Amino acid sequence: MTDTMASAADRQAMDVDIVCVGFGPATGGFLTTLAAGLTNPDGTPAVESRVMPGMPPQVICYERADDIVFGVSGIVTGARGIRASFPNLNPSEIPMAAPVREERVVYLLDPVGASRRSAILRLADCSIRALQRLLPVEDDALRLPYIPSFLRKDGGLLLSMGQFTQWVGAQVMGTGLVQIWPGTPVARPLIEDGRVAGVRLLDQGTDRAGHPDAGFLPGMDVRASLTVVGDGPVGPVGRQLDEHFGLPAGHHRREWAVGMKMVVELPDDCALEPGTVVHTFGYPEPEIFGFLYVYPDRLASLGIFVPSWLDSPVRTAYRYLQHWMVHPYLWRHLRGAKLRSWGAKTLQESGRRGEPHLAGHGYIRIGEGSGSTNVLTGSGVDEAWATGVLAAEGVLELLRAGQPFTQKNLERAYVARRRVSWVEAEGRVAERARDGFLRGVVSGLVGMGLTGLTGGRLALGGPSVPPAKRIPALETFYAGRIPAAEIVRIREDCAKRAGSVHDALMERAGWPAIPYDGQLLVTHQDALLMGGKVQAPAGYADHVLFLYPNLCEACGSKVCIEMCSGQAIGPGDGGVPAFDREKCVHCGACLWNCAASHPEDPERTVIEFRTGTGGLHSAEN
Ligand SMILES: Cc1cc2nc3c(=O)[nH]c(=O)nc-3n(C[C@H](O)[C@H](O)[C@H](O)COP(=O)(O)OP(=O)(O)OC[C@H]3O[C@@H](n4cnc5c(N)ncnc54)[C@H](O)[C@@H]3O)c2cc1C
Ligand code: SF4
Ligand code: SF4
Repeated sequence: MTDTMASAADRQAMDVDIVCVGFGPATGGFLTTLAAGLTNPDGTPAVESRVMPGMPPQVICYERADDIVFGVSGIVTGARGIRASFPNLNPSEIPMAAPVREERVVYLLDPVGASRRSAILRLADCSIRALQRLLPVEDDALRLPYIPSFLRKDGGLLLSMGQFTQWVGAQVMGTGLVQIWPGTPVARPLIEDGRVAGVRLLDQGTDRAGHPDAGFLPGMDVRASLTVVGDGPVGPVGRQLDEHFGLPAGHHRREWAVGMKMVVELPDDCALEPGTVVHTFGYPEPEIFGFLYVYPDRLASLGIFVPSWLDSPVRTAYRYLQHWMVHPYLWRHLRGAKLRSWGAKTLQESGRRGEPHLAGHGYIRIGEGSGSTNVLTGSGVDEAWATGVLAAEGVLELLRAGQPFTQKNLERAYVARRRVSWVEAEGRVAERARDGFLRGVVSGLVGMGLTGLTGGRLALGGPSVPPAKRIPALETFYAGRIPAAEIVRIREDCAKRAGSVHDALMERAGWPAIPYDGQLLVTHQDALLMGGKVQAPAGYADHVLFLYPNLCEACGSKVCIEMCSGQAIGPGDGGVPAFDREKCVHCGACLWNCAASHPEDPERTVIEFRTGTGGLHSAEN
């Protein structure tokens, strides 16, 4: 059953002026700017509500997660847009925030000999090792002597996403002009005659298949003159708009990454100063980037990004994160550290090329889901914030002029502002920056350098295909390293003892076992327990569905199981994976980590990732 099966009479409805979907940095920027413009200096409404005449416009924001502090991101940001909104910003007012003091970019050599390095990279590694007395090499890592300006965050900030959104939420709600409702997922946009007329909230009191159960309560319809969609990279509301209205010609969303992170308590004797930023590349696989940001009070945020162009059918972020942490260059700082929180989330890496229609009748798109993330500078928070600010400026202009939220008006007031903004200018420079990675790591790095240093004039291209088409069979991926017959044996053995295929294959390929220490290096299951409670309230439908069981039965790689950040997807009956809602951290990685293309839309896979409740409860991520 879908939400539409409840009769209109059963479904409650409410009218507001503006409804927002999701509370991340984009909606934070939107509501901060909007709230500041809704009243006059004497407190009287600057503009009037359409649904409550005499009052300021009624603005409501629905956030899926159980609290507004449960976002996931490490954040180093230039904070240009954020500082413009808060000119007197004092970072010490935001828990865990710190000004950026020192930035390092480090190439990690492979200390264990298991990583898949091309001949060119192996040659480079040998040369670096041979010349290590002359180069800034220590602990199997080369610190780059120069960081190009496009990668630096001079004058920027380190933030915790959870603490930052909590701080912004308090500022916004303190105005009394905006309501933010966490724990309230939006199921879908209400599309009527080509216009978005508001949103429908998720049905409650259903069984796992969505059928009415005890306490059934159909999701309310929230009707609004304007719907602001800021639901992030894998937001189901934004994706439903894309399915309905299509993407602009030539645009696509084929490049993704899963970011997996921890917040850790550093050991007492750790020499890293607050404000230190370390970015790494080269290890555990050359395609994987890493980050370590040091907050005040010996706290740090660290993690890795596993991109869609790492063509591995067993690309497991958790195991790779652990190999990254024990690299000698990082382990010298992390030995004795304690895990405080853990999280994972998908990033939209198509950047401006993934931009949807930014405005239509009754709706606008902001933030990462609107293609704002800059794939050259590796920056998404400030860009998302800035798109929210631009949208609010446009909306205020229309409200003050008493003009309706038609597509034409929204394009003039919002999209035109965005086209002349720094987000757009820098997004255009970055547009082709990462195409080289589609050919390999070396061309990827050279391409990024070329694009950054020439202001986007030069780039290296690569064959862009949807992720499902990039995932090879296990036998192909491990050709030359593990014989095909042995792979079959390993899989059978893992199936018998319900073991993890990726662990077995990685160990067979030479990766050492993780030296668990019970406080930082812990099993995946322990990370789910120690790193922030994962919770799924009862009475909601499953939000991960396997649309074509026959394709799953025939699927050899089962990358969905290997990749799942929460171990929420596991082997199921007859070869069709099983989904365990209680373990899902809502990272969205299953949306693009599937080896089969949707029969009716080659840009999609056969996994459906819908709106859901619950997820990871950690206020520090
Ligand atoms: C591990 C990691 C590290 C990162 N590091 C950096 C960094 O150092 N610097 C940087 O600038 N960027 C970084 N990013 C990227 C950055 O986090 C994003 O670009 C940014 O958060 C995008 O903001 P947003 O508001 O568009 O979306 P989001 O932050 O994704 O917020 C969207 C919100 O919408 C909610 N939502 C989704 N669907 C629904 C629904 N149906 N109903 C209601 N609510 C919904 C979500 O729960 C979420 O809270 C990192 C990302 C990750 C994962
Ligand atoms: S969802 Fe099905 S087809 Fe896709 S990777 Fe998983 S098992 Fe394979
Ligand atoms: S099932 Fe949940 S935890 Fe697993 S990949 Fe999908 S969204 Fe992430």
